[in-house]
Amino acid sequence: MHSPERLPELLRGVGMTSQRTRDRMVARLAEQGVVDQRVLDVMACEPRHLFLDEALAHRAYEDTSLPIGHGQTLSQPWMVARMTELVMQEAPGRVLEIGTGSGYQTLILARLVAELWSVERINALHHRAAKRLRLLQAYNVRLRLADGGHGWSEAAPFDVVLLTACAHELPEVLISQLSDGGVMILPLADPGGEQWLTRVRRAGPQYEVQRLEPVRFVPLLQGVIR
Ligand code: SAH
Repeated sequence: MHSPERLPELLRGVGMTSQRTRDRMVARLAEQGVVDQRVLDVMACEPRHLFLDEALAHRAYEDTSLPIGHGQTLSQPWMVARMTELVMQEAPGRVLEIGTGSGYQTLILARLVAELWSVERINALHHRAAKRLRLLQAYNVRLRLADGGHGWSEAAPFDVVLLTACAHELPEVLISQLSDGGVMILPLADPGGEQWLTRVRRAGPQYEVQRLEPVRFVPLLQGVIR
């Protein structure tokens, strides 16, 4: 696994961005019910503060979502941990993420799965994330600027498809890119607009939908912003 000791001194950060701050965040996650030690270990290592603008970096380890520009947000640590835990329950080899955003969730996944594909629709975010992920040597990630609603057909099938933006209906195209037995994890809005973390498991031509817990995400939108 990637070790932060290999990073230049500058990247490791000091003060609010130090190892102790990360350790406190991870202790809080464990208290909140995150049990997968692999997820906790990776989140204890990886520099979340590098995924925010400098002015916000000191808040990176607070238990809150934070703005990343273009009306989008970096999910709170608990949400990233929970989603990653759900991915890891599947023994995933090939994973597709829709909504690269800052790239933080992407990095955490990259450290834990064999191969990762991630799609973002906003060019500026896509570019910034690509730079960070290169810097952090996440070489098992392929990024694409596109409308994630189309998935990534050349790389399908995937063991897991993860959406980090809220869909208003089940994205059938993405289900079709799952392997048999594969799962999609997504925030899904009900007709009243309430969002639910949802797990869809493919079984041959059928699939089974399981509603997990209430969540809050930015919406899944169509098209690309260059
Ligand atoms: N996982 C991200 C969360 C970013 S918020 C992080 O850790 O920072 C959700 C992201 O999904 C936003 O960047 C938004 O632009 C992106 N998004 C929304 N709809 C999309 C679509 N159809 N295709 C690709 N990305 C999309």
